[in-house]
Amino acid sequence: MIEHEKMLYGLIGYPVNHSLSPLMHNTAFNFLEVKAEYQLFSLKEEELEGFFKALKEEDSPVFGLNVTVPYKEKVLDYIDTMTPFAQKVQAVNTIVINNKREFIAYNTDGPGFLTHLTELGFNVLNKNIAIIGAGGASRAILTVLSLIKDRPKTIRLFDIDKGKVDYLISDLGSRFDVSIIQSVNSIDDLAIADSDLLINATPIGMKAGDPVLFEKELLHPDLFVYDLIYHPARTALLQMAEEVGAPTANGLGMLFYQGVLAFQHWADIQLDQEVKQLMWQALESGLKN
Ligand code: NAP
Repeated sequence: MIEHEKMLYGLIGYPVNHSLSPLMHNTAFNFLEVKAEYQLFSLKEEELEGFFKALKEEDSPVFGLNVTVPYKEKVLDYIDTMTPFAQKVQAVNTIVINNKREFIAYNTDGPGFLTHLTELGFNVLNKNIAIIGAGGASRAILTVLSLIKDRPKTIRLFDIDKGKVDYLISDLGSRFDVSIIQSVNSIDDLAIADSDLLINATPIGMKAGDPVLFEKELLHPDLFVYDLIYHPARTALLQMAEEVGAPTANGLGMLFYQGVLAFQHWADIQLDQEVKQLMWQALESGLKN
């Protein structure tokens, strides 16, 4: 086996310059005294094929990747082995590259979300869930919520593009039971007032001045409001939810746990509490700067 001075890990996407992942992963590598570094690989679409070809070279120092927009589905073309959950999602955010230079694909977005939600004390069993947004993040969350044993009662799904919702449900439904997921035509049909959990899986809220997509009257203290956005830490939606006394969370915990799970796949170890705490602190400090 080739001895590398330093093993490389990294994030591919376009653009990737604002990512907090290097902070989190390099903190863990340093603490564990592993000779490895996590880098950002900003790749244009036409560069993707050449990048993966180079990764197959015996002397490549790259042993693991994270994948972000717009490539979570496109990388499926280059994967040698899909792990069962990634196969169900049909989207990949983590790749392990083994010593034979084989690419093994995982999706840790869905489990990362569920781990955070569970840590927050929210149990989805028999709950009514409303989700806004039918993109990549929603795909991973819908998959994990459909496949767990203790499933929610209903998941109502709305997107500005109804065709996207219908396609997503039909695509997921070709691989597993999606009978708990319902496509709805409007925000009103999400039945937010009767829901236990509301998830914002759209980018609406990232920009200053972004609107909340519905009236405050629909929110209530028994509704947990989870916004996948973590920058800003308190979106207009989360502020509105706090005003009515609803429990809230932003997506930093999901980012953290998808990263922890990715690291554990690359290193084939379980990270202990001390390292996880340092990784969390690195993320938080990165957000403040
Ligand atoms: P995406 O693939 O672009 O999906 C977002 C979906 O929301 C799209 O289908 C989009 O439709 C739809 N949408 C946009 N505006 C809408 C509106 N006003 N009403 C209803 N639907 C609307 O993005 P993604 O990758 O799923 O990410 C979604 C959000 O989650 C982003 O803010 C992202 O940063 C965040 N995220 C967080 C984590 C984490 O670890 N915390 C992980 C992944 C993603 P159009 O395409 O037609 O605009």
